[in-house]
Amino acid sequence: MPVRPAPVPSTEHEPGFTTRQIHGGAASGDALSGHGDRVGPIHLSAGFVFDDADQAADRFSGDEPGYVYTRVGNPTLDDVERRLAQLEGGRQALLTASGQAATTTAVLGLLGAGDHLVCSGDVYEGTRGLFAQNLARLGVAVDFVADATDLRQWQAAIGPRTRLLFTESLSNPRNVVADIPGLARLARSAGVPLVVDNTLATPYLVRPLELGADLVVHSASKFLSGHGTALGGFVVDGGTFDAAANPERYPHLNQADPLLAGRSWTQVHGVDAVGAHLRSAVAPRFGPTASPFNAFLIRQGLETLSLRMERHSWNADRIAAWLADRTVVTRVDHCSLAGRGALPVPLPRGAGSVFSFEVAGGAAGARAFLHALELFTHMSHLGDVRSLVMHPASTSHALRTPQERAAAGITDGVLRVSIGIEDVEDLERDLRRGVAAVERLLARQAVSA
Ligand SMILES: *Cc1c(COP(=O)(O)O)cnc(C)c1O
Repeated sequence: MPVRPAPVPSTEHEPGFTTRQIHGGAASGDALSGHGDRVGPIHLSAGFVFDDADQAADRFSGDEPGYVYTRVGNPTLDDVERRLAQLEGGRQALLTASGQAATTTAVLGLLGAGDHLVCSGDVYEGTRGLFAQNLARLGVAVDFVADATDLRQWQAAIGPRTRLLFTESLSNPRNVVADIPGLARLARSAGVPLVVDNTLATPYLVRPLELGADLVVHSASKFLSGHGTALGGFVVDGGTFDAAANPERYPHLNQADPLLAGRSWTQVHGVDAVGAHLRSAVAPRFGPTASPFNAFLIRQGLETLSLRMERHSWNADRIAAWLADRTVVTRVDHCSLAGRGALPVPLPRGAGSVFSFEVAGGAAGARAFLHALELFTHMSHLGDVRSLVMHPASTSHALRTPQERAAAGITDGVLRVSIGIEDVEDLERDLRRGVAAVERLLARQAVSA
């Protein structure tokens, strides 16, 4: 199997985030096509022609850089990978077909049967299921930390077979801010990498690698693509995890590999060992390849990321405060309400727009609220330009026991919203319909009681 060269990270002095999201890391369209296009083309080709047998052999051995087959590398994918790596401050990024594919690829690149990982108890349900069911079936043990804000609980869960720590920077759906610097210190002293799912923050709000994380994963289906059209995911390697420090824990990275002519990933790739192994030995074999067409849509989304995140966050702050003032709203989980000074990492650009809140009246109250909304879309998705709403207890968290749901803060009256970029007055007007519907329900209940 050919070894793909790692994309070159930028070492120039950095322009601002918004400039970089448009110009950063990307080759010009012309460099990719030779036709003078300004925007990089969509290379929808399964394979790439060889000039002759020598070139084919050299491409396969990695002696000559260049493309072979899209599962191993594709110019459109490379282009968006370079751009996201730059925005996250990572050494390289790998684009995958979905966020789940990104998490799977990152984790399967670090551990195997008999190993263990520690995960925040406050994570996306898809991640929880992957770790608790699918990885368990492959012989990987997982401990979920009940109160993810308590570093002592993390410390207590780390054991001799632990191979990574996993958290979300801003959690789904409760908007809990992870103590990334504290977790990074724990990970470093345990000799394992910290992997951060940065989907809900995006690099515009939080840059986990700068705070000490070693790897970042994303669902690009959410804010990065931003328009609810394409699925995708990323694994970003910061090049900071030293897999050679404890070679017995990561034998696959430290032993001779046939792909590297009998040398090891740490010998050949040094600080890029984890990223190079993911790119050349994990992703091409498990096959979570993104479509070049989706790569194009995600790149299009990245070009406006900062503008959208500012508006998303600003709208969400205002709506969280507005909801907190309604008497029928019994709780709002948005970290802006706690006061930014109290947060474990500073969020000067906002706290994202995905959060949950609880209305009075339990499941009936939540249903009445939901059904009264006209502008919010009732849909399973996040990070869309459109505002979205869902009832987690009967959907994403329906498989958990009522006790588990209560512990996770997902009571029957909880709704999860992803605030879009619409005019905030229109969103408030819509939410007023929901509030009025709950008031009517409570009034009817009071009469019949
Ligand atoms: C949606 C989501 C995922 C999974 O991403 P997909 O692209 O849907 O596979 C992972 N983590 C978080 C925090 C998410 O919101």
